[in-house]
Amino acid sequence: MTERVPAAPGSGRRPGADPVDTLAAAWADEVEGTSYVPMASDELQAHLRELAVMVVDAVLADPPRPEDGAEVGRRLVAAHFTGTATVERTLVMLTEQIPALYGPGTGPAVHAVTAALAAGYAATLRDRTLDEQEAIRRAVLVARHHTEQALHASEARFRAIFHEAAIGIGLGDMEGRILEVNPSMMRIFGHTADEFRRLRVSDLAHRDDARSVWELYERLVRGEIDNFRLEKRFYRRTGEEIVGHLTLSLVRDEEGRPAYQLAMLEDVTDRHRLQEHLAYQAYHDPLTTLANRARFTERLERVFAEAGPDSTRRVGVCFLDLDGFKTINDSLGHGVGDLMLQEVARRLENCTREGELVARSGGDEFVVLVEDSHGVDRLVTLADRLLAALSPPLPLAGQELSVGASIGVVEQAVRETNAVDLMRAADITLYTAKAEGRGRWAVHDPGRDEAETARFTLSAALPSAVAHGEFFVLYQPLVSLADHRVRGVEALVRWQHPRLGVLSPSLFIGPAEETGVIVALGRAVLEMACRDARDWYAEFGDGAPFVSVNVAPRQLHEPGLVAEVAALLDRTGLPSHRLQVELTERALTTDEGAPLKALDGLRAMGVRIAVDDFGTGYSNLSYLRKLPVDVIKLDGSFGEGLREEELSDEVDERIVGTLVSLGHALDLTVTAEGVETAAQATRLRALGCDEGQGWLFAPALPAADVADLLRRGAPLAVTTGR
Ligand code: C2E
Ligand code: MG
Ligand code: MG
Repeated sequence: MTERVPAAPGSGRRPGADPVDTLAAAWADEVEGTSYVPMASDELQAHLRELAVMVVDAVLADPPRPEDGAEVGRRLVAAHFTGTATVERTLVMLTEQIPALYGPGTGPAVHAVTAALAAGYAATLRDRTLDEQEAIRRAVLVARHHTEQALHASEARFRAIFHEAAIGIGLGDMEGRILEVNPSMMRIFGHTADEFRRLRVSDLAHRDDARSVWELYERLVRGEIDNFRLEKRFYRRTGEEIVGHLTLSLVRDEEGRPAYQLAMLEDVTDRHRLQEHLAYQAYHDPLTTLANRARFTERLERVFAEAGPDSTRRVGVCFLDLDGFKTINDSLGHGVGDLMLQEVARRLENCTREGELVARSGGDEFVVLVEDSHGVDRLVTLADRLLAALSPPLPLAGQELSVGASIGVVEQAVRETNAVDLMRAADITLYTAKAEGRGRWAVHDPGRDEAETARFTLSAALPSAVAHGEFFVLYQPLVSLADHRVRGVEALVRWQHPRLGVLSPSLFIGPAEETGVIVALGRAVLEMACRDARDWYAEFGDGAPFVSVNVAPRQLHEPGLVAEVAALLDRTGLPSHRLQVELTERALTTDEGAPLKALDGLRAMGVRIAVDDFGTGYSNLSYLRKLPVDVIKLDGSFGEGLREEELSDEVDERIVGTLVSLGHALDLTVTAEGVETAAQATRLRALGCDEGQGWLFAPALPAADVADLLRRGAPLAVTTGR
């Protein structure tokens, strides 16, 4: 049997290294002392190993075999592992250890098998109790039927069972007076024998009792039925609630008339709590206590299942995602992130109404289900309410934090869609809301979704595209406006998509930033750029261009960035002053310390820092004085008004003039982006710009073309008459 359990990679065949042994040992540690088990320690170990093999086999089987999990549950009971803590710890241990030992991919199978194990365990425990009760009932009957002589012995046997039984036993007369109870019954209720004798059966009613409970009782007292079994709640003497598994039987006299009632009660409060706990856990998010994705999905699917083919029922969802949550989590720590999610959950819950289910569907995503929506208006109102609820700052960890959210709204007739399509539409619509500028909702629009789906598919394909090296870099020259000679080049990434051809960064940089893929992508671009720059340097020496690489905000947050760049320069042999990084104003003006530290680290190494798209972001320019910046790149829009010689826009001229003076006052190099005409080049030069970049000089070129350009050595775009 053990042969079928694959060993962990590299563990060989040493018995000590078999993961199933590790699992069995962990199991034994967990359950030791939680149940009274009549077994020696090594016997217990061996037994658990056998069960561990069964569990692992059931998990790794394709498809997984939950029924084997149920069998393990049965065997736990058979081996007297009946303490509540035993099964609870067993479940937690298996859920944690199996994925750790056999890979995280086993998660869903582990879930299925452990759920079956819990169910098998509970069912077996219940059956066993019923068997015990049956044995006792028979003993009472046997005692009654025996002859005079035998009566005494039989009575003694009955007494012994009565006193020692683990379950509560009580005898009452047909008027409902309690005549006798055993010690277990007294323990369960906390009453003494005398107190019991003053009680009547009807005193054991509970406010939650269904009417049918007492109807059954009446029928038994009338002699219409001989016994019944049920589970019901009782009050202990202290007022505390317990759950009991009750069997009530009628004992008849010689003539067959009802004489006594015999109650047997097992206290199943703990097991009940465990089951409730398991059920709760399966359907709730532990952090926020909201319903979880499983619960949400179940409810949504039920909406579809309940609606017949000609149902007019409509259903709606608001799919909500917090804006910028990752930044908060990364910068203020997970503790604050967790508090924020809890507070958000509370606010969302407070602003929803009857018929609306709020669930946390993962990370910083929440979803509200409206089971009967009657039109999109209700959903839009709900979305507004949700956004309004999140708008006041959240008082967390001694500070006031703001959090925004975007919402995708979908509202449809149940018979026009299904649960899967509805959620996909919600997902895409959420994405649209984000793309439209965050902090807002968007309503599902099937037409627009096609375009979004394309974008979405691109986004989903990004990680494997990076892994497969589908990206390449083009280089656009940065020329000196004084002599039009190439000083540097900007690295501009392109995606060679297997089906769609070459894609521009405007299609994928945004999604890459959102999903975090930008970190890996940026690393690949840096690597390619440094290699090419090193090759030019090897061929042209001091005449080779520096390379300017765009670095996304997210990359600056990576703690290893500086060390990575240092290692890269070392590996490629590119001198550090031949590398420049371009950052947008947004990346530079965050309040957090980490990016700034990274900047200092890069600067200290000799890498130059340029502010990209300067003038389009922040109005507060004081950051320029504080930060280690070398270059500002004026956004192409400022050069718009300078395109034509005769029609020069004075305002634009003055703006550019001011920005150039500002840059020079701070000792910065000023580069103009988007230079398309000779007139622009001339004016920008007249206004003091140092360098220019644009289609006038050259488009973005493959590395080999850059080398050709350098070999020719001619200045770019020299116009006559200058
Ligand atoms: P950017 O850094 O401002 O790059 C300049 C953009 O202007 C490039 O677009 C370039 O092709 C375009 N451009 C060049 N000359 C002219 C001109 O004369 N007129 C006009 N109208 N446009 C011109 P591209 O290559 O599509 O890149 C767009 C943006 O994508 C870049 O803007 C940059 O923000 C981003 N990007 C490109 N490569 C990377 C990268 O490797 N990493 C990161 N994080 N972002 C990148
Ligand atoms: Mg750039
Ligand atoms: Mg730019």
